Amino acid sequence: MSDATLAYDAFTPDEEGLREALTSTGNGYFCTRGAAEWEDADDVHYPGTYCHGAYNRETTIMGGRPVLNEDLVNLPNWLILKLRIEGEDAMRLDNVDVLDYRHEYDARIALVSRVLRFRDRAGRVTNLHSRRFVSMAHMHQAAIEWTVTPENWSGRLEIVSAIDGRVTNGNVARYRDLEGRHIDPVSPRTFGPEVIALKVKTRQSDTFVAEAARTRMFQGDEPLTPERSLYQMEDYIQQVLAVDVREGEAVRVEKLVAFYTWRDRAINEPLTNAGKSATRYPDFPGALARHQAAWSEVWRECDVQVPGDERVQLLLRLHISHLLQVCSRHTVEHDAGVPARGLNGEAYRGHIFWDELYIYPFLNFRIPGITRGLLRYRYRRLGEARSAAAEQGYRGAMFPWQSGSDGSEETQVVHLNPISGVWEPDLSHNQRHVNAAIFYNIWHYFQATGDLEFLRENGAEMMLEIARFWASIAHFNHERERYEIHGVMGPDEFHEKYPDGPHDQGGINNNAYTNVMVAWIAETAITVLTLLPDARREALRGRLGLTDDELATWRAMSEKMYVPFHADGVISQFEGYEKLKELDWEAYREKYPNIQRLDRILRSEGDDPDHYKLAKQADTVMLFFLFPEEELARLFAKLGYDQYGPDTARETIDYYDQRTSHGSTLSLIVHAAVLAGLDPDASWERFLVALESDVGDVQGGTTKEGIHMGVMSGTLDLIQRGYAGSEIRDGVLRFEPRQRERLEGLAFWMRFQGTPIHVQLADGELRVEADTEGGSRPVKVGVGEEVAELCPGDRHTFALSPEPATTA
Ligand code: BGC
Repeated sequence: MSDATLAYDAFTPDEEGLREALTSTGNGYFCTRGAAEWEDADDVHYPGTYCHGAYNRETTIMGGRPVLNEDLVNLPNWLILKLRIEGEDAMRLDNVDVLDYRHEYDARIALVSRVLRFRDRAGRVTNLHSRRFVSMAHMHQAAIEWTVTPENWSGRLEIVSAIDGRVTNGNVARYRDLEGRHIDPVSPRTFGPEVIALKVKTRQSDTFVAEAARTRMFQGDEPLTPERSLYQMEDYIQQVLAVDVREGEAVRVEKLVAFYTWRDRAINEPLTNAGKSATRYPDFPGALARHQAAWSEVWRECDVQVPGDERVQLLLRLHISHLLQVCSRHTVEHDAGVPARGLNGEAYRGHIFWDELYIYPFLNFRIPGITRGLLRYRYRRLGEARSAAAEQGYRGAMFPWQSGSDGSEETQVVHLNPISGVWEPDLSHNQRHVNAAIFYNIWHYFQATGDLEFLRENGAEMMLEIARFWASIAHFNHERERYEIHGVMGPDEFHEKYPDGPHDQGGINNNAYTNVMVAWIAETAITVLTLLPDARREALRGRLGLTDDELATWRAMSEKMYVPFHADGVISQFEGYEKLKELDWEAYREKYPNIQRLDRILRSEGDDPDHYKLAKQADTVMLFFLFPEEELARLFAKLGYDQYGPDTARETIDYYDQRTSHGSTLSLIVHAAVLAGLDPDASWERFLVALESDVGDVQGGTTKEGIHMGVMSGTLDLIQRGYAGSEIRDGVLRFEPRQRERLEGLAFWMRFQGTPIHVQLADGELRVEADTEGGSRPVKVGVGEEVAELCPGDRHTFALSPEPATTA
């Protein structure tokens, strides 16, 4: 596979943080930023390591007020390797002349490498080639290899290999006033002469974490016997390996690392197991070969080929690789959800949001077991969600807007506006729509897989409890004869409250997106009940105390949710939106280089986004993203809204497209998808911005704090859903290919209800072929009116009708 390397040819301090996030290496269990092994954390470098579920809560006293935050903890730094020549200072980029430099990330195997040629103060020229990976084959292992070549000198070479537990959470400048210390030392240890190890504990959540490293040196394949010296403190351990090297003769250093936490299964305690694992670790080439084999299996399932566009191809593969580094088959072994910023940085404190909505579609059709595991993260927190609902006087389950360790609401109560330097109240926890996303995700996982067992054991219960929550937060307005929902927020975070409404609680009334989702949920929850085997349905109803009256209310809600419209037929984002002021977009575009975060800009000017017709991100437009056109028309017809007509989609999309700043890049995915059929060029333009948004750091400094999992995965979903036009209707996997000229040759696998199908778009045809893999069963695939049943091994070619021309 070519076209899969992200490469930088010069060291650029201002970009190093971004590159570290983009060249992070992980395996779905733990992940480490692409920092250079020889650098310490400072304003340029930030070597962070994170693993699923390792959260810790700390309180900061701010102006006498306690502020509690839960963070995904930066764990001990296992990367440290430093090079010393003739006992002089360890090499860092700022104390040598850099002659050559290359920093690469190979997306095919999530391997980060650096080639560095430098001249030190004594004129010695040395070449250093570093390679490292976190093993996709063995969940607990990672490895670094250094090849050091003294080009014009012979002498004493020392390698410092360390594990450092003196780390804090300091990746995000905005959070630096908040408590960043999350770990306490436990103990350093050695296991024989070659292995150093360190155990720490998270301060509040009592999670023990241990790392062990076996460091050896080789000349070719011949092991060397360096002189070793050890230094250890309670939170740091290092070994120095010293050898004499000769001009022109390369030596290799291998640092093989084991990583365990006490939440792992099949362990005694993390330090013992880390030590044991590091001692038994094979050599670097052997470990790399197994790692490569594991990735090639994953690529067979997950690759998306776009042969006609090198840049698109590279970025899609980069996104696939990063998605799988955070969510892999290993993730399923853990109590893990998907942190919105991956395991690549500390923004949003490793919390889990509604972004799953953008992430699961790609996984559902490739390795659905991963989605299933991630949905179980929610299931295990159903009890907490029930308590949260009860505490607010609601029934059912109310999942939090930001979720972390135990499923409590982790949304902060204040956040720092970096433009004004002022801490502002944060009302975003009112985004109850996360509950609609969870419901939608379960349903779509089930549609893609037919996994009735999951629905029976976990899915249905969550769906019913979510439906029940919506029924209890809604109330019936007798004047309108409709159900309404007040005091919530839609996805657009610029509208937290009414300009003149109460500011302590916030929320707006009748968010159209929420209300339509709720109408659909109320209907679908009843369908879900009918899908369950009789005994299970009765048992579940009995356990939940789900009455016929409640079901009757759901039925009524599916016919009578209130949806606001503008006078001209455009769907209103929420009730009263039409009365807000228009913003002078041109004036703001002229005044500020980037207006994506208009909320921060307006507030720093003493104004408030709540006054204006503007959106941070797709809100009403989400409806056209999540539902196919006919389905939405059906839902509105059922609700009795004859305002919804053939032009509603186009007019509503157009209206909000002009008023959205895309302050969340998730929004670009949604707009690109909904424009795919309406305006292919505009859609492609937004797709490209989304595709480049992390590599190009379009929001100016956010990606160094973590990749955007939702956007990365969203670009992949755009290809399969937005552009290949896939959709499941009546048990048939249908395609309606768009952007065919740009995507000529597009090929990928989609696993539909257990059967892998190869899909290829070329020469005005869509070719599908069902794999013969064991367990495959006949599935139906369709284009337009034509539906073909594919048995394992069958192929079918659909001739496509000509596409309207684009400016490709
Ligand atoms: C977006 C949310 C998103 C969150 C985490 C925010 O900027 O507005 O929709 O869930 O980031 O990615």
